Amino acid sequence: MNMTFDSYRELEQFEIVRDPQNGLEAVIAIHSTGLGPAAGGCRLWAYEDVEQAKIDAFRLAEGMSYKNALAGLPLGGGKAVIRKPAGTFSRDALFRAFGRAVSQLNGRYVTAEDVGTSVADMLAVSQETRHVAGLPPKDGRPGGDPSPWTALGVFLSMETSVRRRLGNSLSGSTVGVQGLGHVGFSLAKLLHDAGAKLVVADLSKERVDAAVAQFGAKSVAPEDLIAADLDVFAPCALGAVLNEGTIGRLRAKVICGAANNQLATDEDGRRLADRDILYAPDYVVNSGGIINVAAEYLGWSSERAKALVEDTGARLDAIFDIAAKSSLATHEAANQAARAIIASKRSAVSVR
Ligand code: NAD
Repeated sequence: MNMTFDSYRELEQFEIVRDPQNGLEAVIAIHSTGLGPAAGGCRLWAYEDVEQAKIDAFRLAEGMSYKNALAGLPLGGGKAVIRKPAGTFSRDALFRAFGRAVSQLNGRYVTAEDVGTSVADMLAVSQETRHVAGLPPKDGRPGGDPSPWTALGVFLSMETSVRRRLGNSLSGSTVGVQGLGHVGFSLAKLLHDAGAKLVVADLSKERVDAAVAQFGAKSVAPEDLIAADLDVFAPCALGAVLNEGTIGRLRAKVICGAANNQLATDEDGRRLADRDILYAPDYVVNSGGIINVAAEYLGWSSERAKALVEDTGARLDAIFDIAAKSSLATHEAANQAARAIIASKRSAVSVR
């Protein structure tokens, strides 16, 4: 999703928090709380300056609002980003300081893991605030690594997309998985079990070798996957992989993967539609992880969370219906549907 000036203005609140003694410089962005507390993970990244961190936090917070709204969660959207301190630092002290900042927001923002942060970091946060999820599961309740849930939602979405665009099932379809990390590897297993043929790429030879050995996958160099002879391309690594330079090279007719912000620009979503490639909007299909996080925070049972993840394919189908009926590209249909849900419950806006 692209950040526009309008989106910045729509932010309800942002805080720049600094605790130099513990190495903390962070941005907490609250995009919307109309549907409930603003939920979204905390990213640790080596941002060059606080402006860069702000842009990333704002963009990601908006994405979380859309993702949570379309997943049917009683949650708004927010995100925190921490500038990774240079040199050595105490992670425990850093995340406890961040936890104190989250605590001061009195539940308007709920944090969890994201790129660069772990369950151990969230345990440190939980020493200071209860508005944190992604902690180790207790007594069979939801918690821990959300990636398998994300993979399940992507898999079900892919089934829906393949049926819709190609008129067949995943069995016998050729799927290219870009990135065999937490989500990509789980997804590859689900696809293998469903009888799909796999073509995989990762920067890690070890992960590629494991997929070849366990799933009979064919491996290609990372730069070659996008133009490979595929039915489905599943981006599970980086953002902005669908761009002016890559879209013309795609041979797949379906795009469905876990990576956030797959479209470099909104225009790229149009380009895919013009090429009759069915794009499953990323934040619709990759909501399994946040559903698991939400279930943990809201005290839902695992069964309730699982049922919501299992409904991902049906929610995606509804977006495809809107797009088909209104001649919108699928990402436009998703954005429109999410904005309508958020606008219906928007609380008073205060921009700082
Ligand atoms: P991860 O870091 O575990 O895995 C990413 C993998 O991609 C790594 O194995 C890495 O080596 C590989 N990679 C990096 N650049 C590559 C390239 N150019 N070509 C091929 N492979 C490359 O991350 P993850 O948790 O599996 O998440 C994957 C994506 O899904 C990310 O964009 C993330 O933001 C998104 N996402 C994850 C979750 C979740 O539950 N983990 C939820 C929603 C969205």
